[in-house]
Amino acid sequence: MSAPGTKADGASGWLTVVGLGPGPEDWLTPEARRDLAEATDIVGYGPYVDRVPPGPQIRHASDNRVELDRARQALALAAEGRRVAVVSGGDPGVFAMAAAVFEALDDPAAPAAWHRVPLRVDPGVSAMQAAAARAGAPLGHDFCAISLSDNLKPWEVVTRRVRLAAEADFVIAFYNPISRARPWQLGAAFDVLREVRAPETPVILGQAIGRPDEKLIVTSLGAVDPAQADMRTVVIVGASHTRLIPRDGRQPWVYTPRSYRAPA
Ligand code: SAH
Repeated sequence: MSAPGTKADGASGWLTVVGLGPGPEDWLTPEARRDLAEATDIVGYGPYVDRVPPGPQIRHASDNRVELDRARQALALAAEGRRVAVVSGGDPGVFAMAAAVFEALDDPAAPAAWHRVPLRVDPGVSAMQAAAARAGAPLGHDFCAISLSDNLKPWEVVTRRVRLAAEADFVIAFYNPISRARPWQLGAAFDVLREVRAPETPVILGQAIGRPDEKLIVTSLGAVDPAQADMRTVVIVGASHTRLIPRDGRQPWVYTPRSYRAPA
């Protein structure tokens, strides 16, 4: 792609934000695989960097909390002429690094050279899509995604969105449902939902989907226990018209019909 000796002039560098999918290499797109192979540098949160197929790239692994620093580092490397892949799990545009890269670029103090870096985003399979596929088709009609992390936004914003999404009868996919620092948020979100939605509303807990220890639980809003979720779980709560189809010896299929029938 770049001629030898052109690396230092800044003209041959690029930055691509790459979605790695939820886990297995089967869910890594050919485009993402090619860009990872062509990169000279991989930048990202340690566990994601570890998932990049082996190669000669320089790996810049960092902590989870330093997204903006990581984005600036990636832009700076690319402006120096490096071919940089910033990696995220799932889709890089869903609660992940793509927005951090644009935020770093949008900073008035960003060097002009950063704006000249060829920049691209490679989409990936997001956790909600992977979990939905395992469960059936719960996202078959209107849905929204809400992160329960209040590291980056006030908790009142989260509860307001949960309440309004429930009132608007969206299927809701919850990311970042729980962590050691945030043990109570998922339970609180279920409490808000129970004020609006029926107890028999289907709830899907998709844990480590695509990984060897994958687990899928289909339960209901009345019965769900927040302790069944961890930070590798995406939680999907059905709408009023989300339905179950029993399966012999297995969890039922969950789907949301494409035609909307208002509840009786
Ligand atoms: N960009 C990612 C989301 C990053 S936020 C994506 O599009 O999937 C991290 C959250 O994603 C986790 O807390 C969890 O809710 C969800 N998640 C990521 N990988 C997952 C997997 N393999 N199975 C279930 N949930 C996952």
